[in-house]
Amino acid sequence: MPFSELHQELAERAAQGLLRVRRTLTTPQSPHIEVDGKSYLAFCSNDYLGLANHPQLISALQQGAQQWGVGAGAAHLVSGHFEPHHLLEQQLAAFVGKPAALLFSTGYMANLGVVQALMGKGDTVFADKLNHASLNDAMLLSRADVKRYRHGDLAQLEKLLSETSAGRKLVITDAVFSMDGDIAPLREMLALCEQHDAWLYVDDAHGFGVLGEQGRGSLSHFDIASERIIYMATLGKAAGVSGAFVAAEQVVIDTLINHANSYVYTTATPPALSSALLQSLQLIEHGDELRAHLLRLVARLRNGLAGLPWSLMESDTAIQPLLIGDNQHALELSAALRERGIWVAAIRPPTVPQGTARLRITLSAAHTEGDVERLIEALHELAC
Ligand SMILES: *Cc1c(COP(=O)(O)O)cnc(C)c1O
Repeated sequence: MPFSELHQELAERAAQGLLRVRRTLTTPQSPHIEVDGKSYLAFCSNDYLGLANHPQLISALQQGAQQWGVGAGAAHLVSGHFEPHHLLEQQLAAFVGKPAALLFSTGYMANLGVVQALMGKGDTVFADKLNHASLNDAMLLSRADVKRYRHGDLAQLEKLLSETSAGRKLVITDAVFSMDGDIAPLREMLALCEQHDAWLYVDDAHGFGVLGEQGRGSLSHFDIASERIIYMATLGKAAGVSGAFVAAEQVVIDTLINHANSYVYTTATPPALSSALLQSLQLIEHGDELRAHLLRLVARLRNGLAGLPWSLMESDTAIQPLLIGDNQHALELSAALRERGIWVAAIRPPTVPQGTARLRITLSAAHTEGDVERLIEALHELAC
């Protein structure tokens, strides 16, 4: 029976402390959420600027729905491409310093679409081993050859690039690694791409809105610009809404419009989401105080957690993973925090490498210093 096999696989996962389950929120996203009727101080969203429940975004979405209705009703290439989509693409491109941009429904779909559209048999994709799962899936879908290098190992990347002569070359990387919080050395990677005539695909899901001047993202953070860079950022994290965009040379965007299946064969996102995102972009652009507060919280957390038996991984970003190691131990710690009314997600393999289970603490500008103090105190208690 096919079902008994599935039952058995799930039971095995559970025995290894790897079973994934969901919890249902009964309040909006914020540092203070209610889950199954109980209140928690939460450190696990990617809502880095606290915009997901921002009153100005809520009213922009309401007004957008008044003006444009609820559904797009068709794909972008049929009759689903609306004025707010178009305006948002233009503003996003200008914001990150690229000639053109294209909206996708999610970051996952953007990654699938870009790699599939640009790369094929005979081409080679070079990827950091800790890249996001969607980038890994994208490589497989493209049918290009795949060469993975050790996390951040530019010497290995260079060797792999120099060993490859035929076809197109695309180096793909998270800008801020989603489970580690460290930042890829994009300046050095760009230099390698120039040397070896490769494109550089940067997934800035966790940098856009947070890093760089006015939150313009990782390219601004490193002050780099190049036609070779194809930039992707998501709009459901710091931007607080949903979706993603790719920004690049016009010819790249035109290629995606024609060849990216996850763009062509899907219904456009509701135009009202773009109305909300236009407002979000304003808040990001004028959000220096939010970002300064977030950085203060990061510093406070890192100081406060020094001296624990577990150490924070090397990170300057809002993603501050506390390395635990053992799956079961990470789950137990997460559960013990939950008993104290604090919610931090335990991240286990295969999301992270074996033996590196962690508590992925994420901070948001919506947290107060007091919120961070509470987490620090709870972890010190649990360490005793
Ligand atoms: C979240 C994430 C994605 C996927 O974006 P969604 O819009 O949530 O589908 C892609 N890449 C990275 C690095 C991410 O963290």
